[in-house]
Amino acid sequence: KITVGVLALQGAFYEHIQLLKKAADLLSSSEELQFIEVRTKPQLDSCDALVLPGGESTAISLIAARSNLLEPLREFVKVQRRPTWGTCAGLILLAESANRTKKGGQELVGGIDVRVNRNHFGRQTESFQTPLDLPFLASVDDSSSSPFNGVFIRAPVVEKILPAHEGIQVEESQREETVVAPSRAAVATAVAAASQGRVEVLAELPGRSARLVASTGVNIDADEEAGDIVAVKQGNVFGTSFHPELTDDPRIHMWWLRQVQDAVKQRRTQKAQ
Ligand code: GLN
Repeated sequence: KITVGVLALQGAFYEHIQLLKKAADLLSSSEELQFIEVRTKPQLDSCDALVLPGGESTAISLIAARSNLLEPLREFVKVQRRPTWGTCAGLILLAESANRTKKGGQELVGGIDVRVNRNHFGRQTESFQTPLDLPFLASVDDSSSSPFNGVFIRAPVVEKILPAHEGIQVEESQREETVVAPSRAAVATAVAAASQGRVEVLAELPGRSARLVASTGVNIDADEEAGDIVAVKQGNVFGTSFHPELTDDPRIHMWWLRQVQDAVKQRRTQKAQ
């Protein structure tokens, strides 16, 4: 049995569990997948993989700190290297560095060597949905890769890929950014950096004006505006700026569960050797 947890401190954890179940039903898998809500360390310890949902990253981080879950989460992601996926607020928590907002910063879990810009698109009224081209879904997609409905709610984007572990070294930037504090897990990350590999960019959102051209057909010069990075993966850690759990499209959940199955298989063979 493979146990997949969803961190259930705040945010859209229920929706993730529903869509994970739907995705699991669609995957023909030889081994049973079980999904649990995670609020305590023993629950976390029983998981082979974990989802950090969208919600409010400061709230999630504060509750995690009060529940004594921050350090166990860092161990889970960076020392045990179990597959972990963060959506929106979850992506913020899995970044090694994040900007502070007017309301302040928060402690991060870390695991992906990127800096995110929280609330990149602005306030709640700037939330939007847009079709996304996600080439990485080809492996699970029978519908000949129809676009994915990207739901962006006060969404972050990845604004910088960090040279590995800059996040834990740059002290000067602590004043304006939240960086993952050097911890046992961080040191272990640095040691294991080579095996963790590089940050892969899995999806970009066309720049704002290019999006406008696509939706209105009006031709304005959209060339010079770079796209925003909205999906990244580094080793066992995956993050999306948007909320697949708020759609009923299970393709990303299916794709990720396959990754989880492969990682669990690999870990078991390593153990057996
Ligand atoms: N902007 C939010 C934060 O900083 C994330 C929003 C979301 O998860 N929908 O946590």
